[in-house]
Amino acid sequence: MNMLDTPMTMTINDITFPIHTGTIKPDWIAEAAAKGYDIVARVVDRLHLALRCHKCGGLNKVKRFTLMTAQPLCSHCMMREWTADAQAAGLEFLQRDATNRHYGVYRADCGHQVTRQFGFVKRAASGEVKIRCETCQAAFEMEEARERDWTLLGPDPDGDPSYRHYRHDACGHVQRMARGNVKSGRHACGKCSLYWSAAPSKIYAMCFTLASGRELVKLGYSNDPESRLHYQLKRDPEMPCSILRMVAVPTGQDAVRLEKRLHATLRRSHPECTVDPAAYRTQIRVKSEIYDASLTEIILHELDRIEADLTVAA
Ligand SMILES: [Zn+2]
Ligand SMILES: [Zn+2]
Ligand SMILES: [Zn+2]
Repeated sequence: MNMLDTPMTMTINDITFPIHTGTIKPDWIAEAAAKGYDIVARVVDRLHLALRCHKCGGLNKVKRFTLMTAQPLCSHCMMREWTADAQAAGLEFLQRDATNRHYGVYRADCGHQVTRQFGFVKRAASGEVKIRCETCQAAFEMEEARERDWTLLGPDPDGDPSYRHYRHDACGHVQRMARGNVKSGRHACGKCSLYWSAAPSKIYAMCFTLASGRELVKLGYSNDPESRLHYQLKRDPEMPCSILRMVAVPTGQDAVRLEKRLHATLRRSHPECTVDPAAYRTQIRVKSEIYDASLTEIILHELDRIEADLTVAA
């Protein structure tokens, strides 16, 4: 074979490199074989080799130094692995992150792009961790704050991952709060609220008639059930709704305790009466504490009992 028949270039991953004519030493060949590769050619300059992966047959441009001192990774096998991991984790692998080689860019189920460490996606693929879309999560937390009449401004200024920065819609006061407390309503405005646990509260039952005609009953607590109903819960202004019963309780702390216990009892004794939030989400701004209206009599009876117990205790 004369020089003219010898190819002068080699294309690896869509990039064409010049072939470097020079001998390939037996110890390089042995090293490559031990690490799962065949040396196809020397490329670019005296420092680089073209290696063919034994597993997938793909070509890789690898530094001779890397081959001799470490285990070279096959870019094709890695790409296949990233794609498979992504699929198992419910994502679509789009590309490597241009700024960090340990990260990939993926499309989540919701359509948003998420950037995650390859190792993290592998753990998600095995079900060890969950991948949450930041965009959807932010919208979700925004809504969660809105349900309590607060506006989520952003992450905690002090950097605590369980805290966020919020503004109270009623008075404009800005403060940091634990997200869990906002979610459960165990929060208070440093400017305008009496501390919830010490302030008097009310346990209430409300009824709603959905556009579908379905009737629901809600049990909850609030220091102002009227405002809770009209300014927070009622997403649809046309929806017929009213407060059925209110029981005054001495403190917010009592209200939480009594209300929680009653919910637990109701869920246990009437599991068939819990309602999928999908049925009312568009009309009522709440995620739980709602039951089928067939439970109304039982709830009203329980509220009577709570009121009687409180009277006896007082
Ligand atoms: Zn390979
Ligand atoms: Zn999303
Ligand atoms: Zn306030």
